[in-house]
Amino acid sequence: MGADCIFCKIVAGVIPAAKVFEDKQTIAFLDIGPLAEGHLLLIPRAHYAQITDLPAELSAAMAAVLPRLASAVLAVTGAAGLNILQNNGRAAGQVVDHVHVHLIPRREGDGLGFRWNAGSYAVGRADELTRRLRAVLS
Ligand code: AMP
Ligand code: ZN
Repeated sequence: MGADCIFCKIVAGVIPAAKVFEDKQTIAFLDIGPLAEGHLLLIPRAHYAQITDLPAELSAAMAAVLPRLASAVLAVTGAAGLNILQNNGRAAGQVVDHVHVHLIPRREGDGLGFRWNAGSYAVGRADELTRRLRAVLS
C-alpha cells in the first residue's frame, strides 16, 4: 500500500467509494468529482504510481475490463460517447499517484474536452523520432 495513498485506502476499505465493479486485480468506482454523471475510475488493487510502473499483466487485466465498463456507463447514462483518459505526472494533470483510468461519458455540446492543437513535423523529424523509438522498443 502506498503511504497515504487515497486509492489504496479505497482498496483497503478504509475510506468509502461508490464501487461498481471489482475482480481479483481491479476495482472501478464513481469519481468523486465527476466531469459528467457516471464518470468512473478503474484502478489496479496494487499500488503503482504511473503507467510506466505497471506490470504488463496488470495493464492487460485493466484493459480487459474496459469494454464492459464502457458499455455499462453508456447504457446507464445514455451518453452519446465516452472518453478513456489516463494521466501520468503533474504535467499531464495527474493528481492521485495511483494508476487510474478515467471513463468519461460525453454528450454533444457538453463543453468538456481539451485543446487538440495538432501540429506537424519538420522535414526529417518524424523519421528521426521513429528511428529512436524503434531503437528503445527493440
Ligand atoms: P487525476 O487528475 O487523473 O489524478 O484524477 C484523480 C481523480 O480522482 C479526480 O478526478 C478526482 O475527482 C478523483 N478522486 C480523488 N479522490 C477520490 C475519492 N476519494 N473517491 C473517488 N474519486 C476520487
Ligand atoms: Zn495506492
